Amino acid sequence: SITRNLGDALGSIARGRLTESNIRDGMGKVRQALLEADVNYDVAKAFTQRVTEQAVGEKVLKALRPAEQIVGIVYQELVSLMGPVDHSLAIRRGELSVIMMCGLQGAGKTTTCGKLARMLKEQGNKPMLVAADLQRPAAIEQLRVIGEQIGVPVYWEEAARSNPVQVCVNARKEARAHDCNVLILDTAGRLHVDDALMKELMEVDNKLMPDQALLVCDAMTGQDAVNSAKVFNDALELDGVILTKLDGDTRGGAALSVKAVTGVPIKFIGVGEQLDRLEKFHPDRMAQRILGQGDVATLLETAQRVLDSDEMERQQQKMLEGKFSLDDFLKAMAQIQRMGSMKSLLKLIPGMGQMAQALDALDGMDPDKDLGRVRAMIQSMTLDERRNPEKIDRSRRNRIAQGSGTDPAEVHGLLKQFKDMSGMMQSMAGLGSGDRMKKVMD
Ligand code: GDP
Ligand code: MG
Repeated sequence: SITRNLGDALGSIARGRLTESNIRDGMGKVRQALLEADVNYDVAKAFTQRVTEQAVGEKVLKALRPAEQIVGIVYQELVSLMGPVDHSLAIRRGELSVIMMCGLQGAGKTTTCGKLARMLKEQGNKPMLVAADLQRPAAIEQLRVIGEQIGVPVYWEEAARSNPVQVCVNARKEARAHDCNVLILDTAGRLHVDDALMKELMEVDNKLMPDQALLVCDAMTGQDAVNSAKVFNDALELDGVILTKLDGDTRGGAALSVKAVTGVPIKFIGVGEQLDRLEKFHPDRMAQRILGQGDVATLLETAQRVLDSDEMERQQQKMLEGKFSLDDFLKAMAQIQRMGSMKSLLKLIPGMGQMAQALDALDGMDPDKDLGRVRAMIQSMTLDERRNPEKIDRSRRNRIAQGSGTDPAEVHGLLKQFKDMSGMMQSMAGLGSGDRMKKVMD
């Protein structure tokens, strides 16, 4: 697998003596690992070149922990290879937005239409599914069954007496009549990209002018998926890719190449056949997953810790100057959450017990969800309140709770956490200068 091969390659660099020629050898293995994962050749070549250039630089070879630095560089390059991502689907409330889904046969279009509709419905939208794949008779029935499962209406017409453009145009009228705000078009696919398919899709595209054109790609087909993405993008100007079947034993090449080859970001990933198996695509998590095993995972953790400790130092400085605000608190929370794995280590260091306790308090926190609530609460405070939280009395607390859709007890809890963290930061700052702190973190 790519994880194992990349791990071996990076492990060999880390274990060997770090000379320029060793690094270049190791990077050759990195490139091999990428190619075996079915990453596009040009992408793999450019990738290893970028990493090598940085890795053989003065700064890395002279650094205290060059191996971690190199893994850190590979990680960051992986992240930027796959990102940035914009997860938005350009949905407007009170108006009808159209999402056109396209892709090859079997890629997972119909399933993904259902997954998207389910997700949008959960977010308070009123989606309607459109059976615009008239190629396969079973396709309409498949979509109707899915619509039934998730309680979303499906517009369809008899295949023999209609055509895709007509189905979509009629569906749009129907959607408006029913106050729906999202129309999701399940279009036809083919086994291979061909002119007839592209013509059909371009007709729908021209007539409906979708707000989003999304390509559904099967991650298991590796470079074929990427090549087809290129063709679809040339014809339709895609807004995003949804990569399906990432739950299986895929080689990962498609995830790594799509953005680099087409310029189109992966917005979502399918991780199972069930209709709730759709996730936002996060390049950093994917990079962690790719690097996330054995030796390399450990190296990566250290690398991230070094990155984070710079930010930590800035915050401590603010603390010392009495400028640590709730905004800084938000940043620190996100960071500590990421450092969760350090906890066991911290407990062993004298004077760090408090920090470990603070981490305990954050255990089981879902960063996407809970940090979102914390952010909402902090954003409902005035600037003055953020800098001087002691001013927040009962009535202000109620106002903040109302503004952020939380409850006063939750706001109270947040303020208490902030106080604890301020205390913790102060005692850590008391350990000495930033330099000493950094040593502790290492
Ligand atoms: P379409 O021809 O593009 O409409 O593809 P379908 O939606 O009919 O899906 C083809 C097959 O892929 C079906 O068996 C789906 O259950 C399966 N499938 C779709 N998405 C995923 C996914 O994310 N993971 C897995 N394991 N299977 C998927
Ligand atoms: Mg289908």
